[in-house]
Amino acid sequence: MSGVKITLPFGRVALIGMGLIGSSLARVLKRKNLAGEILGCARSEATRAKAMELGLAERMHADPAEAAADADLIVVCTPLGTYEDIARAIAPKLKPGAIVSDVGSVKQAVIRDLGPFIPEGVHLVPAHPVAGTEHSGPEAGFAELFEDRWCILTPPPGTDAGAVEAVAAMWRACGSTIEIMDPAHHDKVLAITSHLPHVIAYTIVGTATDLEESVRAEVIKFSAGGFRDFTRIAGSDPIMWRDVFLNNREAVLEMLQRFSEDLTALQRAIRWGEGEVLEAWFRRTREIRRGVIEAHQAGTFDAREPEKTGTAAPAPEKAGPPQA
Ligand code: NAP
Repeated sequence: MSGVKITLPFGRVALIGMGLIGSSLARVLKRKNLAGEILGCARSEATRAKAMELGLAERMHADPAEAAADADLIVVCTPLGTYEDIARAIAPKLKPGAIVSDVGSVKQAVIRDLGPFIPEGVHLVPAHPVAGTEHSGPEAGFAELFEDRWCILTPPPGTDAGAVEAVAAMWRACGSTIEIMDPAHHDKVLAITSHLPHVIAYTIVGTATDLEESVRAEVIKFSAGGFRDFTRIAGSDPIMWRDVFLNNREAVLEMLQRFSEDLTALQRAIRWGEGEVLEAWFRRTREIRRGVIEAHQAGTFDAREPEKTGTAAPAPEKAGPPQA
């Protein structure tokens, strides 16, 4: 049963956090007239001033409760570790019928941290736009970030269908395709598609930095050999990624275990010169890459650059990895 009437544009939207994701959302909301008014919130005076200068919000607040007061839609766009404090702060200011959503990269933790503070009559609709770059802050955002990307919604059982549809409609208007998922399933899928690749990138770049000086210099010089892509992923925001791993521990550890087993198998094939094993493995992974391109989920360095794989890609890609 639906208790919320879906009306786009929303009246007042509060964006708690004005970094890459919050500022990108602000840009699309403005460009497509999806909000009557946007109030933003950021910790630092520098981010608040920059957001005002860029015209991302009508007002910027330091206190999340001030931004959330009387808002029809509140979207939490901060690192996961801040969620509980933010929920505690905004809860008394939430008006009946308001929708609280977010963009966090892990979903069970969001329901754990926001859920208990959502008052009766307010709707919690967690969301995860699977889109991003390695850059942070209000200047890093752009309105096209969510185009041709998935946005996964993980509403808790019994969530008002109208509230879910209102959030879905907003993300569709941003250019995304909606998938509704169970939060535990979301966390498992993202552990392999996003979180594990980041663990690997952080590890390999760390390993390279520990090499002796003579080799280290060559690593940077010849980085186009593959290392460069890892440095891009490993250049992602340390706080955001710390919080992702702290909040999706079980799923990431499970995927790491499987990864270690496969790594050992590959190591063995290399050691024993098993060319046919290696070739079969690489043929299988090449097929997966083709599938990613066909699904329009491939990407390049700059989110706004066209696909440059050299393979016949069906469509130009909008946003390159990493996508948290
Ligand atoms: P970001 O660029 O680092 O921006 C974070 C924003 O949150 C900044 O405006 C920051 O303000 C603000 N903030 C931090 N702590 C706060 C607090 N306690 N109270 C109020 N504001 C606070 O981060 P992001 O990349 O946009 O990521 C935000 C969320 O999106 C994360 O939960 C992440 O998991 C999710 N996400 C990220 C990506 C990605 O690729 N980056 C993709 C999908 C989802 P100051 O600048 O003043 O510190």
